[in-house]
Amino acid sequence: MEAVNQLWSRITGEIRTQVNEANLKIFLNSINPVGIEGETLILEALNDVCRDWVERRYQTIIQKILQGATPPLSCVFVTRTRKEARKNPVQPCLPAINGPSVPITLPEKAPTEKSHVPVMTQFNGKYTFDTFVVGKSNQFAHAVCQAVASKPLGTAYNPVFIYGGVGLGKTHLMQAIGQEVLKTNPKLRVAYLSSEAFTNEFIEAVKDKKMNEFRAKYRRRDLLLIDDVQFFVGKDSVIEEFFHTFNELFQNKKQIILTSDAPPKKIQRLEERLVSRFEMGVVCDVQSPDLEMRVAILKKAAARSVMKVPDDILMYLAEGVVSNVRELEGAFNRVVAYASVVQKAIDKDLVDQVLKDFFREQTPGKVSISWIMKRVAEYYDIPEIEMTSKRRSANLVLPRQVAMRISQMLTESSLNQIGAHFGGRDHTTVMHSCEKIRDRVANEPAFAAEFERLLRWVDPKGR
Ligand code: ADP
Ligand code: MG
Repeated sequence: MEAVNQLWSRITGEIRTQVNEANLKIFLNSINPVGIEGETLILEALNDVCRDWVERRYQTIIQKILQGATPPLSCVFVTRTRKEARKNPVQPCLPAINGPSVPITLPEKAPTEKSHVPVMTQFNGKYTFDTFVVGKSNQFAHAVCQAVASKPLGTAYNPVFIYGGVGLGKTHLMQAIGQEVLKTNPKLRVAYLSSEAFTNEFIEAVKDKKMNEFRAKYRRRDLLLIDDVQFFVGKDSVIEEFFHTFNELFQNKKQIILTSDAPPKKIQRLEERLVSRFEMGVVCDVQSPDLEMRVAILKKAAARSVMKVPDDILMYLAEGVVSNVRELEGAFNRVVAYASVVQKAIDKDLVDQVLKDFFREQTPGKVSISWIMKRVAEYYDIPEIEMTSKRRSANLVLPRQVAMRISQMLTESSLNQIGAHFGGRDHTTVMHSCEKIRDRVANEPAFAAEFERLLRWVDPKGR
């Protein structure tokens, strides 16, 4: 097997032939090879921004070289832990878009981004069965979770797989199980962590040559709770490890609970062997709360609140905020916080005033076409002016088409209006572009994943 250093110099050599000096320097400052685990090369990035940047631009080149290695390798990207970053700070050098590279301040992380610190997450004392409101949208998941919590060793429900959209209580339910089990059986060995934390810990273990400890830690659990398993996708060596952990626990009749944003079969690019294992037990979903449940959730929040919130206001809020429980709680907290600051009673006017901003943030259309053009040009590293130019080389046509499709999705502009922004193009051109991109997203999983990343790049808040 090729040594890491040799492999790395082949990769940098190849990249050197394809980019200018400035970008090469950024690349070298952004990322380091840390080792080979099994058949996976582990590359460590300075931080999340660098990781995304390198992944986006150079993954294809890197993969091509890795596939040619003997044996062929895959790669995973990880980020330096905060601890290490603090110990050994490096001035980050970020990609300069269309210009010489200069060190610039890191953009603020999107609030939804997870940190990559490999720690075992503690339970949140708020996430218990007591505080969980049951309604039609989650009663099955709730019943299954309670059954498992009351008999953690040996229900027929193994594994339990809970899926559903964001803010609908998956993490809450999962932590409720963990906390309940520990309350009644304090001796049981329970581990709760996200798939990202599992990944990071695995990588640390590889680096520190502590794989035996890592394996022992997770394969000797009575209850293993892994949150957001969709983040395992694409990380081959981690999946391999997790697969063995899963099998060992399962064979020993230890309880496993998993959550995800989609049912096993619908998690894009999830390996078949994992899909089939995830489906072996009970798969249950949590859905958006109906009005009755939204009111119930607000009543519970109101009962905890120091401020008096009249019932008709709770109803008013429940009618206005429909997306998920997290948003609902957020809206409630804002109203109460505002009322206590201005020392006013809570009435509909006050709610309207506070939620005006909240609703505006929620509504689509806040992303402008110019913003989309700018961000997409940045993503593909082409001058923004090419968005409106008539040049038709392939490296310009794709970004332009993608930007048109995103404009169609995220703004309320008509095809004509979009065309006007893109250098006065005809609406049929816009339509054709949008269809083409939609087609590719539907038929090419790799492109679909890329497009997803782009959408987040354009609109991190995911309006
Ligand atoms: P998910 O993991 O599905 O994204 P969370 O479990 O983090 O969602 O829930 C988001 C917020 O909403 C948390 O504060 C959680 O306590 C609350 N929540 C979600 N569902 C319920 C529910 N049925 N009853 C009470 N609180 C809930
Ligand atoms: Mg969650």
